[in-house]
Amino acid sequence: MDCIFCNIVNKKGNAEILFENEHVISFLDIRPVNFGHALVIPKIHYENFLSVPHDQLNELIDTTQYLSKYIKEGLNADGFNIIVNNGAAAGQTIYHFHFHIIPRFEKDFNFKPNFKIYSHGKMKEYADIIRDILKKEGQNNGTKN
Ligand code: AMP
Ligand code: ZN
Repeated sequence: MDCIFCNIVNKKGNAEILFENEHVISFLDIRPVNFGHALVIPKIHYENFLSVPHDQLNELIDTTQYLSKYIKEGLNADGFNIIVNNGAAAGQTIYHFHFHIIPRFEKDFNFKPNFKIYSHGKMKEYADIIRDILKKEGQNNGTKN
């Protein structure tokens, strides 16, 4: 399988690498929302958020938290977004899981979606759909039955 991010992991592709350990690598996004926009990826190829094993996800989150702190500090950013796009509908273009760390600045361009408004009863309806499937899966209290 030809994957741009696997090539970066294997040093067959160029990247501005910021951090690397046994399982995780981070490098600058080639088309940044803001300069310093970084990606954090597992060295093993997993397609998306749902397919990354828990232990690897934990390590990725820890690394993302660690890098965010220093990206914000180093670039004097006022804030940052942590984003994961899953599936084409959500804007995923590279199917090798990655966290985006996007430094943000006051008076930055607007990055907010058009918020919807629930009509009467609709909020509960949506919550019920999600609660029902959680209940069915036995995961509504965060544990597997
Ligand atoms: P996503 O749309 O969430 O799948 O994000 C994929 C990101 O990878 C985009 O923001 C691209 O700009 C970035 N990207 C694609 N190719 C490369 C590359 N060779 N090096 C660094 N970033 C890349
Ligand atoms: Zn890959």
